[in-house]
Amino acid sequence: MDGGGYCGHHAVTAPLKIVRAQKQYMIDTMGIEYLDCVSNIAHVGHCHPQVVTAAKNQMATLGTAQGFMNESLNKYVKQLVNHLPDVLSVCYLVNSGSEANDLALRLARSYTNRKDVVVYDEAYHGNLGNLIDISPKTYKRMAQGKKNFVHVIPYPDTYRGAFRDDDPRAAEKYVMEAERIISQATISGSSIACLITESIVVNCGVIIPPRNYYRLLYNLIREAGGLCIADEVQTALGRTGESFWAFEHYGVIPDIVTTGKPLGNGHPMAAVITTREIADSLGEYYSTYGGNPVACSIGMAVLDVIENEKLMQSAKAVGKTLLENLALLKDKHECLGNVRGTGLCLGIDIVENKASRKPARELTQSIIYSMKERHHILLQAQGPNQNVITVTPPMCFTQLNARSLYTALDSVLTACSHHGSHSVEMGSSVVQRPVLSLGDLGNLDEEEVEGPEAKRQRTSYDDVD
Ligand code: PMP
Repeated sequence: MDGGGYCGHHAVTAPLKIVRAQKQYMIDTMGIEYLDCVSNIAHVGHCHPQVVTAAKNQMATLGTAQGFMNESLNKYVKQLVNHLPDVLSVCYLVNSGSEANDLALRLARSYTNRKDVVVYDEAYHGNLGNLIDISPKTYKRMAQGKKNFVHVIPYPDTYRGAFRDDDPRAAEKYVMEAERIISQATISGSSIACLITESIVVNCGVIIPPRNYYRLLYNLIREAGGLCIADEVQTALGRTGESFWAFEHYGVIPDIVTTGKPLGNGHPMAAVITTREIADSLGEYYSTYGGNPVACSIGMAVLDVIENEKLMQSAKAVGKTLLENLALLKDKHECLGNVRGTGLCLGIDIVENKASRKPARELTQSIIYSMKERHHILLQAQGPNQNVITVTPPMCFTQLNARSLYTALDSVLTACSHHGSHSVEMGSSVVQRPVLSLGDLGNLDEEEVEGPEAKRQRTSYDDVD
């Protein structure tokens, strides 16, 4: 299970024993195939043949660690950094998202010679001691509580937060609140080393901040003398459809970018990318396994597949269809409070009713459970109340998969309402035809429209011996 996610019913009521996985499907010990809407680490698809072949070949050739320079390290770093603004030119390769964020904090602290960190309420940035300290999601539920050097600002939730979608000044108001918290900290003698946030906040329930928000927030932090760290562990490599990194949606350039999950398609690898000036403040850095040739070869294969199979474009098109159809379901089912997201990074906010927007945690778990048991579709919940169903599947998720998902969800919600699990008021607009634009680019399914280029360049699963 994802460190930030929750799929209690899967784990407790009927634990899944997965033995194999391919593309966006997982197969359990009984041979049942599940549609995987959860595994964002299997970015280009489970066991992608090109990735498996790259790993096998490299393991059979050279597997030494970073102490020795290797050609694949240079090549991979160049390829990854090419996807970032020029100023972010120094890349450290590490082994997990936690390790990446730990290094990012060290970089920010050594550059600024300060300690304090600004984070979102309910943020999660990793499982090392250093990161638990700056992850309210974790430390709030532990005895240790908040440390003095941590300053918690509200995440800009325009569905349920203090300032909402109907307020054109919501972004400014959230930033003013951050400003109040930071100036209070400064008056009490604190000096801000950095802000660390997910730009699209998956761990708080796929929160999509207003477009002008980060420009304002980054200005505020920089005026306070701090650096801005974008945690792209969940959102990197085109997941959000429109851009390779989530921060790009907001037209800002962070001082430090961290990423992990998707880089190795399941193989443990992560990265920190920053400016030369910031990197120089740290001095030497060494990791035994970070950037080893096997990881780098896998990493290159992942980047190649994203490009060859046009997975970012596909995520954009499939995500759009999914969101449009989920929006139709929202009109039909009273407990679907809000659907949001971009690309294949979506959140379905389950509520007691639309008027109150009160999170319906238990209902969310029942829905996830029914989706798994009845429809063999795997989902999980996020957010402080575990009531936001997240959809972050492998990027090869197709239009047909999208259709299976919203059709099954419709049927589960309809059954819920018939069994009285919650009250469902049918609106007047109820049943509408699903919006499915097969002409859209990038639904990489054999049965659907597919660019000949993508098909030609894809290595077959049968090609891997
Ligand atoms: N940052 C974010 C935003 C995450 O979601 C996670 C993991 N869920 C991490 C960091 C930590 O990554 P890892 O589990 O690879 O250490």
